[in-house]
Amino acid sequence: MTPQILVQSYALVLVTDRDTLAIKAVSAHSDDQFGRSAEELLGSTLHDFVPEKVISEIQDSLSENFPAIVKLIDPEGWKPGNYQLVVRTVGAELVIEIEPRRTWPHAGDYAARLNDFTAELEAQSDLDDLLERLCEGLIYHFDFDRAIVIQFDDIQNATVTHQAQKPGQTSLLNVRYVEKDIPMVERKSQLTETVYVYTDNEKALVEIQGEVSDEVRTVLEAHSAARRPNRNILRFLTDSGYSTLSYISLVIDGKLWGSVYLHNRNSFYVDYQMRAFMRVIGRVAQQRAAYHLHYRRLRMQKTANEVRDRLYDQVAKANSLAEGLLEGDITALDLIEGTPGVALCSDQELTCFGTTPEVNDINVIIDWLQKEIGDDKIWSTDQLKEHLPAAHDLTDTAAGILYLPLDTAANQWVLWFRPETVETITYGSQADITGVEGERSYEMTSETCYNCSLPWTQDQLGTAQGLQWFVQQVVMERYASVRHSNKLLREAYEDLEIFSYAVGHDLRAPLRGISSYADILHEEYNNQLGDPGRQYLHIIRQNASRMRLFMDDLLSLNRIDRRQMVVNQLSIRNLVDRVLRDLVNFDDQQIACEVHREIPDIHGDRNYLLIVFTNLISNALKYSAEAREPRVEVGFTGEYRDGCPVFYVEDNGIGIPEDQHDRIFDLFARSSNSGDYEGTGIGLALVQRIIRFHEGRIWLESEVDRGTKFMFYTGVGCEEQAE
Ligand code: ADP
Repeated sequence: MTPQILVQSYALVLVTDRDTLAIKAVSAHSDDQFGRSAEELLGSTLHDFVPEKVISEIQDSLSENFPAIVKLIDPEGWKPGNYQLVVRTVGAELVIEIEPRRTWPHAGDYAARLNDFTAELEAQSDLDDLLERLCEGLIYHFDFDRAIVIQFDDIQNATVTHQAQKPGQTSLLNVRYVEKDIPMVERKSQLTETVYVYTDNEKALVEIQGEVSDEVRTVLEAHSAARRPNRNILRFLTDSGYSTLSYISLVIDGKLWGSVYLHNRNSFYVDYQMRAFMRVIGRVAQQRAAYHLHYRRLRMQKTANEVRDRLYDQVAKANSLAEGLLEGDITALDLIEGTPGVALCSDQELTCFGTTPEVNDINVIIDWLQKEIGDDKIWSTDQLKEHLPAAHDLTDTAAGILYLPLDTAANQWVLWFRPETVETITYGSQADITGVEGERSYEMTSETCYNCSLPWTQDQLGTAQGLQWFVQQVVMERYASVRHSNKLLREAYEDLEIFSYAVGHDLRAPLRGISSYADILHEEYNNQLGDPGRQYLHIIRQNASRMRLFMDDLLSLNRIDRRQMVVNQLSIRNLVDRVLRDLVNFDDQQIACEVHREIPDIHGDRNYLLIVFTNLISNALKYSAEAREPRVEVGFTGEYRDGCPVFYVEDNGIGIPEDQHDRIFDLFARSSNSGDYEGTGIGLALVQRIIRFHEGRIWLESEVDRGTKFMFYTGVGCEEQAE
């Protein structure tokens, strides 16, 4: 059996054949307002009870798309009064609603009143004024007791934002209705049927009798003015003591943005002309609201853009992300309004700004986030505790968080924090526990909401995403410039390689020739040369040997290759012994070279570390040879860097002037006081290069004529060692 169709009783609803006007269905009224019983009507045609003059008027004004409105004044056998027929063409049938006409509450032409009202709405300079005026005007023009504007939010709640009422009505301002109060189907229908009136909660709905087509059924159930209200409306009116309810939808950008609801304690109907008036007012109001919203949004966006641009500018100029995002006039807190704390992880360092949880707690949140939610997407919540129980006592700083990954590989991210905002919400309804399941009862109830922060808006998430994009862009650019520098460096190294190859091979042979012939000259013709000749020959041989030394050093610099490194744990003492054994003339020098007894092992490549110690010790020996009691010491500073022991090689020789400490590791750099000592200025550059390959660092302390102490560590292979 097809379900019955119910309609409101203020109108007589008829379905007739379009041509013969034979009545096929009718609303069954016990009411004698229309002077005919349903049974009687079903067997007749419109001709039987509507004057022919009216019928021909109907036929003249029928339209496929618009209803025809025809007046019916004091018809014979009817309850005296003014009636009108609202006639819709539905296929081969007509759906006719015969309704009493209502006299407007105020005198004067209503078209002129409508004009005035729309002009007044248009003149309001902001959204709040507009909506308030809308409520007041609707009450006045239609004589309703109360008008409210409700606005829908992102999560389908509806909140009363504006209201006007006659004395003695309950205020509903700020009251919230949940999704169930205005169900989805109802919201959908409000999008197309923008005005609806339910006239009388005292009177029962009436049934349509007779047969109707599916098309007519849809019209009667969903589009006719007399269509039945949903059960929430009925329950609302019953619970709150009102009899008539009407709504006007406010549709903005194709979405149901809000509705104006009109309530009246006593029942009254609103006729076709009044509904048309409401429809026009609704349209004007929604246009103006859209304009104000748009304008408000633009203004906010402009301010937000200014903040954003200044912050971006700062980030672009800063030396680090932390400096750019947290240290300038504008910070990451200004970017996301209503956020008192933020943490940034960049370059392996965590920086907190504003009101944030303790570092340990931040680490707990981040570990959980990156493991459970994923470290590569923006994520936010206004109820962290719900997701992460460990955050239950962090509500005063981190009831809500917004996570923004910047560079996943480098573990760079920003995390904004919001504290709990305790909010008391008045709900306009509650679940009816005594009635039918799922039914709402409309008594107000208050609930205080704990553990929630202010929600993160779509705009704010968008702003965060913008920052992510920008940082990635800037960082990418920097990377690009680093890549460019690397390329230049590589080219320089390639040049150097070619040069060293030339030094090693092409120049070596002629040099060897010079040396050999100088040696022959020295051995076989020395006596014939005379004193000046012998002196010149000596200088030639000395220079040739210096040049060989230079070439050897340069070549060894070039032979250092990180890929060939084999890291081992090595005894310093063994290394030093080996170095001393190999150093020519060491025994002749009579210099003490001591190695600390308590000295940890070093991690690194044996051959490369031998080069390090060879250079440092031979320099120490060389540059302290003239000291009164020359002494060289190799030891452990007692200090650890990055978990690795820091060693030193110290002497009491000529020292290095302080202003030259920084550049002494540069290639070919020699100190100003080293003129009398042989050297190439390559050794320390080589040492530094090897130490860097070992992820360590070398530096020095030195004072002229007091001595020099080189300190260094290798950063590989010693992770497990205690700090
Ligand atoms: P060189 O072959 O000239 O010794 P290095 O690169 O080994 O080249 O050292 C660079 C310069 O650093 C030296 O020329 C010298 O001026 C200074 N230097 C290095 N070690 C010492 C030291 N132990 N005492 C004083 N000066 C030193």
